[in-house]
Amino acid sequence: MNIESIETFVLELPLTRPIVAAVSTGDRGSPCGSVFMPCVKVVTDEGIEGIGYAWCIGGGGKAMNRVLCDDMSPLLLGENALDHERLWEKLYWATQPTGRHGLVMQAQSAIDLALWDIKGKAAEMPLHKLFGGMRDRAPLYGSDGGWLNMSVEDILVAAANYLAEGMYGIKLKIGHADPMVDVHRLRDIRLALGSDVWISVDANQKWDYTTAIQVGRELEQLGIAWYEEPMICENVVGHARLAEKLDVPIALGETLGSRHEIGSFLQANAVDIVQPDITRVGGMTEILKVIAMAGAAHRTVEPHLMMEASVHLACGLPGVTGLEYMPWLTKAFTDPPQVKDGQMLAPTAPGLGLEFSPRAIEHFRIA
Ligand SMILES: [Mg+2]
Repeated sequence: MNIESIETFVLELPLTRPIVAAVSTGDRGSPCGSVFMPCVKVVTDEGIEGIGYAWCIGGGGKAMNRVLCDDMSPLLLGENALDHERLWEKLYWATQPTGRHGLVMQAQSAIDLALWDIKGKAAEMPLHKLFGGMRDRAPLYGSDGGWLNMSVEDILVAAANYLAEGMYGIKLKIGHADPMVDVHRLRDIRLALGSDVWISVDANQKWDYTTAIQVGRELEQLGIAWYEEPMICENVVGHARLAEKLDVPIALGETLGSRHEIGSFLQANAVDIVQPDITRVGGMTEILKVIAMAGAAHRTVEPHLMMEASVHLACGLPGVTGLEYMPWLTKAFTDPPQVKDGQMLAPTAPGLGLEFSPRAIEHFRIA
């Protein structure tokens, strides 16, 4: 089944609500109102087409598209679309001097998703069935209702909606310049929601070690389920120190590209909950290896965003315990996976079970 042609384009999708998350300088990051979605369609000589995509916020979408067009597509034309491992290695090593992670690996991830979509369609099975058919639906936590630019009152409204839908909990952003602002907000939210509600927090790499451990002590008192990206994502040793000292589990992985980067954290006991992003870490081929590595290290996996593709992992495999509900890309698809009683239902169509929406392409295409 040879690759005959590859089409690429970029969408800029409006966010469901404008957001602010932490950055390491200043009190807050810049407000952001849209997300970029580089897309790829791989066409084979047997009539089967596969789709893949990546995402980015703040820039890089068009550059990713150029990498797909100029550097990766020529390496794939005429190749057997079913040889996903060989083609992953080919793309990785062809681009390694400028790649390994970041937008080059994100472009590779998009291609890899398309190859898996083709494989599922060739097998006439949704990918979660190919992976192992673990369950027919995946638990979700609400993640689009706890931004730094939202008031405690607005966060409580969003939380009530998620919990009423049946989601198992909520995630909140932290990361104000004065971390006590976060602590006071969290105390108010915990008091209002009660001690039983599952709450995790995400600092988006905001703090140094000293601040991270001070905040972590407060999170322990508040019964927080996990402490996500407390420090810069390169800090393996710092996260290992933090994990050793704190009882609250450390979650990270979204900003890391490839099993090699995530492996460093596993080997150092620097992460408790592994959060690979399927479109940053190297696609389906690479995230399957990350999940196996996490399992061997007795860590659970909670994929970062990208629920429309990662639902196949959560429904197909043991060890992937839930999904992050963030409907940023949902409108790009004609028939996205359904949510029922706070859980995402396993898709029934073969492959990824996704098609790009012609209406979204018409309205949101920028390249
Ligand atoms: Mg995060």
